[in-house]
Amino acid sequence: MGSMTPIRRGMRGPAVVAEDHGSSEPSAPGVQDLARFGSGEPLDLGADDFPVPATLVRYTADIVVPCDGTGMVLAPGVLEVEGDRLVHVGRTPTNRVATEVRLEGAVLPGLVNVHAHSPMVLFRGSGEGLPLDRWLTEVLWPREAKLTAEDVYWGMVLGAAESLRFGVTTTCEMYFEEDAIADAVLATGGRAVITPAILQFPDDDGNPSWAGRLEEVAEFHRRRNGDGGRIEVGFGPHAPYSVPPEVLTVIGALAAELGSLVHLHVAETKAEVDQFVGTHGRRIVHALADVGLLEGRLLAAHAVWIDDEEISLLAEAGAAVAHCPQSNAKLASGIAPLTGMLTAGVRVGLGTDGPASNNDLDLWKEMRLAASLARLRERDAGVVSAVAALDMATRAAGHALGRPDLGSLYNGAAADFILVDLDDAVFSPMSEPTDVVGHLVWSAQSRLVTDVWVGGRKVVAGGRCLTVDVDEARTQVTRRAARLVAD
Ligand SMILES: [Zn+2]
Repeated sequence: MGSMTPIRRGMRGPAVVAEDHGSSEPSAPGVQDLARFGSGEPLDLGADDFPVPATLVRYTADIVVPCDGTGMVLAPGVLEVEGDRLVHVGRTPTNRVATEVRLEGAVLPGLVNVHAHSPMVLFRGSGEGLPLDRWLTEVLWPREAKLTAEDVYWGMVLGAAESLRFGVTTTCEMYFEEDAIADAVLATGGRAVITPAILQFPDDDGNPSWAGRLEEVAEFHRRRNGDGGRIEVGFGPHAPYSVPPEVLTVIGALAAELGSLVHLHVAETKAEVDQFVGTHGRRIVHALADVGLLEGRLLAAHAVWIDDEEISLLAEAGAAVAHCPQSNAKLASGIAPLTGMLTAGVRVGLGTDGPASNNDLDLWKEMRLAASLARLRERDAGVVSAVAALDMATRAAGHALGRPDLGSLYNGAAADFILVDLDDAVFSPMSEPTDVVGHLVWSAQSRLVTDVWVGGRKVVAGGRCLTVDVDEARTQVTRRAARLVAD
């Protein structure tokens, strides 16, 4: 039924970005990547299926919100794109010859979702009302045991198409069947940091085969890091309670050697923390320090139940947190100490978590909820401004991934940007162009994203995905989800 999944295992060699991300500066590989673009060298975009404009394209928009962390707005604003990079962002154009494109609305960088399990659209709506531990053991894990690579491919196609439709151009993915995820992301035209899930169940002899899985992930990194210029590969050990310390130590060393991101769940529920402290005699962030993970590119998802000392440890180490307010609220996990983390200087980006616990991939809702819940927690309407909320979905999210080339519009950044329709009641009144930031966070919605570009290539136009057949993906996911539920 339907077309065969074009899974292309091992067919793609490492592209140019692989070397950039795998070399000696583990904390900010994007910076090295950027260095190339000031040098006048031709861009090696890697093998790809979609045309990229070969010459300079100049986009002029009513409003450009570069998302530099200050709330600065260009009205009008100009982006100039060459290949997959921005080569000029400003109020006025350069004098270079270019193809001119006029955009009506507001241009923002593509949003960056720093914690997702997008293929879990296959499980959307399952296990509603269960607490996290029961939902995992009774609903999710039995179904995941039946997953095929083709299931994950179609789940990721639909999830990535949903993200792109919402203006989310990069997602940080933790899941299994990583080749299928990479294939799907490339097919949709999106961008991803893929951190293959490392979570082993005992084999027939009762021993989890950690070494085998680590080798698989390392091999996946060798083959596909930098693929198409839009895939970065990291490591996704599930959590400190599910992956033993000695395995985390090996992962940390391997990731540091490759300059790769380590992405794991940290202190999501109080029960998890209580149990961890009871077993290990250490709080979770201290345990991460023990195994050396704080020294590398670390992305801790959730961090709901961390204390002030743990926040300080994360801040001092330059570690990042993926804040997932909607998942935490829906699963009643708690309200993360966002204000404390931001004040301490922890790098925080927003994540949706998986669509089985959210239930969508809409980062716009996370912006508003993050600010709302932080204000409720602190009982202070002055914390987490609209600028700060937007920052966590854009620039700060890129930084949380160790990718300053994402989530912000500036000369040398990735040409990932979105167009928002301002011709809507939610943007009125707008007495000053800078009012747009408050409206984007507090009254706009993802449905107002009309057009999306990733790496200079248009992938959504008029709210419609240009790259994959979304109806086909929906049909595939519906059929496959029904099979996974059945015994
Ligand atoms: Zn998660």
